[in-house]
Amino acid sequence: MKKTIVLSLLLSVFSLAFSMLISLADPLDPEDGQARQTPPAGDSEPSPGGRENAEYVYDDDAMTVRVLVGETVTTMTMSDYLIGVVAAEMPAVFDEEALKAQAVAARTETLYHMRHESAAHPDADVCDNYACCQAYQDDGALREKWGGDYDTYIKKITDAVRRTDGECLVYQNEPIQAVFHSSSAGKTADSGEVWGTSLPYLVSVTSPETAAQVPNYVSTVTVSLADFKETVLKHYPDAVFPKDRSRWITDITYTGSGRIDTLKLGGVTVTGPVLRNMFGLRSTAAAIEIDGKNVTFTTTGYGHGVGMSQYGANTLALEGYDYKGILLWYYTGVSFGSAADFVQ
Ligand SMILES: [Zn+2]
Repeated sequence: MKKTIVLSLLLSVFSLAFSMLISLADPLDPEDGQARQTPPAGDSEPSPGGRENAEYVYDDDAMTVRVLVGETVTTMTMSDYLIGVVAAEMPAVFDEEALKAQAVAARTETLYHMRHESAAHPDADVCDNYACCQAYQDDGALREKWGGDYDTYIKKITDAVRRTDGECLVYQNEPIQAVFHSSSAGKTADSGEVWGTSLPYLVSVTSPETAAQVPNYVSTVTVSLADFKETVLKHYPDAVFPKDRSRWITDITYTGSGRIDTLKLGGVTVTGPVLRNMFGLRSTAAAIEIDGKNVTFTTTGYGHGVGMSQYGANTLALEGYDYKGILLWYYTGVSFGSAADFVQ
């Protein structure tokens, strides 16, 4: 009698455990209709399913990337590379969904570079120059940057990479150019505004960040009249600066996203991105004033303005968007794919 009770108790415990296991299983992934296993969190935190974790093979660990760091080409796993990129490109204090969005954007951008050889570095897939590819910091640099917060931050970044293992953004069955920037002025820029080539997934969209979230959201650059003239003449020797200062800066036109498209400096037509470069402006969302002493540029946001805004991503995350929602906000019409499908 006693035996039967124990047995039936055991059975009900087992069936309860079994039904819990079933309910914990991931639902069908809406993107491709296949059940998808969610990778466990970062290695730094052994979970109760430790044995399974040890046997889990990450897609990112099976891919290698040739990275030009300084002068040296180093081959490393996609995991190690992405941890160094996310850590270098986005503040570690950001919300985890924003960090996951950054991880997927960085992985996608890496795939794009792996599939399109760079004339600047044919022996490497990517380099650590943010203006060419993406910023990257190795473990030593991160320890120095984070100091006593290293353990917390490296775990957070590692988790963002692990929890999006192998995921990338595709458009017409190709990894997209998943470019990103720090912050926008209300709207992101269309890629055509900045690089002359419009891409269907890099169109202007609204971006929610404001001065409340972004440090130095609005900033000014002041240049003396003499320096202004000298800088323009260095680039454009044909420019003419008459006594009447109102003729120095004329014909300012703006893009659909509110950034400077073109303007005339001393009668010579210059584009917004070139102007930004010449005077080290944080963005082309700029207002310009000229008085008896100086030219003053007042800019909003930071970066070229194309693709995902990082501060916008964090603002959306704090409003409850997950990383997929954030990525679909900034990259129009894309879907999620598997990086393993795009590397040999
Ligand atoms: Zn590069």
